[in-house]
Amino acid sequence: MTDALSIARDLVRCPSVTPADAGALGVLENILNAAGFEVHRVTFGEPGTADIDNLYARIGNSAPHITFAGHTDVVPPGDESAWTHGAFSGEVKDGFLYGRGAVDMKGGIACSVAAVLDYLVAHGGAPREDGKGSISFLITGDEEDVSVNGTVKLLQWAAARGEKFDHCVLGEPSNVEALGDCIKVGRRGSLSGTLYVDGVQGHVAYPHRASNPVPDISALIVALSYEPLDHGSAQFQASNLEFTSVDVGNTAGNVIPGLARAKFNIRFNDLHTQETLRTLVEQRMARTAGNRIRARIVWEPSNSNVFVTKPGAFTDLAVAAIEEVTGRRPELSTSGGTSDARFIASYCPVIEFGLVGQTMHQIDERTPVSDLEKLTKIYRGVLDRYFAS
Ligand SMILES: [Zn+2]
Repeated sequence: MTDALSIARDLVRCPSVTPADAGALGVLENILNAAGFEVHRVTFGEPGTADIDNLYARIGNSAPHITFAGHTDVVPPGDESAWTHGAFSGEVKDGFLYGRGAVDMKGGIACSVAAVLDYLVAHGGAPREDGKGSISFLITGDEEDVSVNGTVKLLQWAAARGEKFDHCVLGEPSNVEALGDCIKVGRRGSLSGTLYVDGVQGHVAYPHRASNPVPDISALIVALSYEPLDHGSAQFQASNLEFTSVDVGNTAGNVIPGLARAKFNIRFNDLHTQETLRTLVEQRMARTAGNRIRARIVWEPSNSNVFVTKPGAFTDLAVAAIEEVTGRRPELSTSGGTSDARFIASYCPVIEFGLVGQTMHQIDERTPVSDLEKLTKIYRGVLDRYFAS
């Protein structure tokens, strides 16, 4: 069976909690092989991380090339006895498919596979009537955890083979309340650091022999927190810097601590790069610190850059396909956390559209079966418009 619900159930029944595959990619491999795809299973690993299975499957040899991306790994089920239906049962009850990954994002993958198969059957087994065009699947088993042996390496592997992607649809649960309310077209970048202020440890009764870093780091935290980094851009909300912990490691009530540190994270928009942001924050720190406060920032490495797919022909055809099926005109949003789209964006324009995210990562994760049917129709509508244009 190759309808979305059957594929989704088969996937949910594989307990593929990262880094386990538990047969999930095999489900897709069998279906795609039978439909004429060239399927590759590639395993990536590196010291200190678990080896991860990934899958790349393509039909067609020429442009235009649309790829459907996703991940078959899932977060742990939590307390399995708290689930109304087994976390990996794939139970369908009262019109809902239950199970870990139903929403994030085995359901989305199932819909894209079902839509592509349906499209190919209707078009004699090739993406376009003139024999041109390609459709592929870029599926990783390493999204929910460290994301080291997944999409990043799979994209590099594909590029080394000469694969060129023109557009990508990532089936993450992008909708907030109802199917059709939101396409994610970009995400802010993320950059973390730790602010250190050196003092001189001493007795609280003899402050002239010590230098207390607590008021000094407080002044820096206030300065860095309250001055806006920007006021937002055409497609993004304002960047924000948030301190997440402050610590002096001091348990004694009569000791002035010798060192204070504060961790922070910045979510930044397309008005910055990591480099310009580091410079800006360090300049502001230096301005407040002057010659008196001994402060420094240690930045954490980050591979989370800002990206955006500008509105245009590709987003227009997705919006049209969504509106046709749901009657809703989706917002083009850049809000929310990060996803593998940040890696794909270096290769081709990418949009994220999948199921409704309400129950993802929760006990009783579930999706209406009717949403699976609608999302399949939407992806089919995307394919019709993509290869007709
Ligand atoms: Zn996900």
